[in-house]
Amino acid sequence: MLIFEKSHEGRYAVLLPALDVPEMDLDVEDHLVRKASPELPEVSELQVVRHYTELSRKNYAVDVGFYPLGSCTMKYNPKVNDALAELEHFSYLHPYQCEEDIQGALELMYHLQRFLCEITGMDAFSLQPAAGAHGELTGMLIIRKYHDIHGNAEKKKILVPDSAHGTNPASATMAGFEVVEIKSGPDGLVDIEDFKKHLDNEVAGIMLTNPNTLGLFEKEVDKIVELVHEVGGLAYYDGANLNAIMGITKPGDMGFDIVHLNLHKTFSTPHGMGGPGSGPVGVKDFLKNYLPVPVIEKRDDGNYTLEYDLKHSIGKVRSFYGNFTVLVRAYAYIVSMGAEGLKKVSQVAVLNANYLRRKLSERFKVAYDGPCKHEFVLDNYEVWKKWGVKTLDMAKRLLDLGFHAPTIYFPLIVKEAMMIEPTETETKEDLDRFVEAMFQILDEAEHNPELLKSAPKTTPVSRLDEVKASRHPIVRWKREEEEI
Ligand SMILES: *Cc1c(COP(=O)(O)O)cnc(C)c1O
Repeated sequence: MLIFEKSHEGRYAVLLPALDVPEMDLDVEDHLVRKASPELPEVSELQVVRHYTELSRKNYAVDVGFYPLGSCTMKYNPKVNDALAELEHFSYLHPYQCEEDIQGALELMYHLQRFLCEITGMDAFSLQPAAGAHGELTGMLIIRKYHDIHGNAEKKKILVPDSAHGTNPASATMAGFEVVEIKSGPDGLVDIEDFKKHLDNEVAGIMLTNPNTLGLFEKEVDKIVELVHEVGGLAYYDGANLNAIMGITKPGDMGFDIVHLNLHKTFSTPHGMGGPGSGPVGVKDFLKNYLPVPVIEKRDDGNYTLEYDLKHSIGKVRSFYGNFTVLVRAYAYIVSMGAEGLKKVSQVAVLNANYLRRKLSERFKVAYDGPCKHEFVLDNYEVWKKWGVKTLDMAKRLLDLGFHAPTIYFPLIVKEAMMIEPTETETKEDLDRFVEAMFQILDEAEHNPELLKSAPKTTPVSRLDEVKASRHPIVRWKREEEEI
């Protein structure tokens, strides 16, 4: 039941204090003045508490159970980092406060920039972009400006492997480039021969998701970077999946010129909650002056300052300085984990993924099977052909069994794909329970396919009519008497 439907005239939860300042006649245009009270639900305090508690219990979350949503790194994020971000010294700051008053915040951002440089092997970072895709766009705008300034008018193509994250081609296109797709070989990695065919003077750069969306590390990454550099292009590393490589290798060491990270995946802010997020962009020294302004610098007198004077800056990509509380969580996470801790995170994330891959491969087909990084992809095409059960049906059935579904139908290069990312924070027992559930589903696919096709049955919302949902979406609540 919606809270509007619980409304009862005259019921209230709080009383506002009486007006204790003189009433003013404001000079507001007549059509802007509200003539009637807004229609808000009239409910008691207990009704409000019950309403929101009920809603929270309808939600699935990492705090409730296993959430193997591939490419999203839905790991557990320590609550202490939330508590730190909520400290009033951080949460009450105003972006218009003067530098003298916000030295602590600037110091935190400065050190976070330095930490991210260390983790990625880059020389400078901008904390401004608000999401991964936003970081990509920022990186693409830097590449465009770099070529503009160097008079490389012919460079209008960005190479993007077909195993890249879907945002990559979108970001390159938004920045005005022509996207050229590079094929994957039979091993799921960039097909070097196909890649070489596309190398020419018009190549402005490459965007490489690594590990790619199959969870595979590009073995020839240094060669790819070298060849792109040879034709005068720049190399962009999509580091949203850094959870796989922290403390083990660095995009900078692989020769990349630009990288973005998703703090709202790897660094203690949950991903996929509708924001806020943070997709910082790091560059090598020769691109430092292209970063969005301001960046945070340390002055000779030891104070921190917002530096706006970058010669070739692409300008601002977001208001103010980025999503600050996400930055606080990332800083707290990095400091509390330390270098060894971050390395362990990646080692265990990769171990968990490989454990799950091996277990599931006893009965499922793994696309491009072999050691993976933080995630892997199942190819359920045979299940569909044999028993008419789609990956979608299996994913829905997982909900009944108490798990969040993995990412499905992505990457596009695998039919009936199911992309599984267990993350480092799950126990072996939970991984085993997931394997059991998956095997149970396979048995059901064979013996009781109708059960899967009508799943889920136990969730607050059962199976949606997907065609109706896209043709006639109902995106807001309407009163019964209103036309739908
Ligand atoms: C999640 C992800 C992105 C996009 O990040 P958003 O914050 O959702 O925009 C880009 N690339 C890869 C590889 C990702 O996993």
